[in-house]
Amino acid sequence: MPTPSRFSSVLREAGLRVTRPRLAVLGAVHGHPHADTDTIYSAVRSELGEVSQQAVYDVLRALTAARLVRRFEPMGSAARYEARVGDHHHHLVCRTCGDIVDVDHAAGDTSCLTPAGGSGYEVDETEVIFWGRCAPCVAESPGRATADQRRLDRADP
Ligand SMILES: [Zn+2]
Ligand SMILES: [Zn+2]
Repeated sequence: MPTPSRFSSVLREAGLRVTRPRLAVLGAVHGHPHADTDTIYSAVRSELGEVSQQAVYDVLRALTAARLVRRFEPMGSAARYEARVGDHHHHLVCRTCGDIVDVDHAAGDTSCLTPAGGSGYEVDETEVIFWGRCAPCVAESPGRATADQRRLDRADP
């Protein structure tokens, strides 16, 4: 976990003014990888005391725009934030419990930055989400249908 003074220079290098809410939000995103805004908000509030939800949203937006924070949004879930930026890692999401895990590329593998028939686009980022069930969920109910499938089954008369 970087120190507050490290966060200050990170903000300054990105051309952002150093403010207490920005430091607190950066710290919260570092401390809670893949957290949603509610989690970040309560972490920031426990550090700063009184702070509005809107202020935290605004800071998250500024940090995301400056690429100090990465935002991604698994289908059907709230937006998530993380401080691990610029390495093109991807995510595994468990359909059953919602657990989110980072997955690395094989070293030097940039194949997913090279779309087939890319129409001349210069791609600088890809978002891949692998959906499935995490190991504990599989262990708990091997061979069981996914949450989505169960919902469909229930809806079936
Ligand atoms: Zn799970
Ligand atoms: Zn991640």
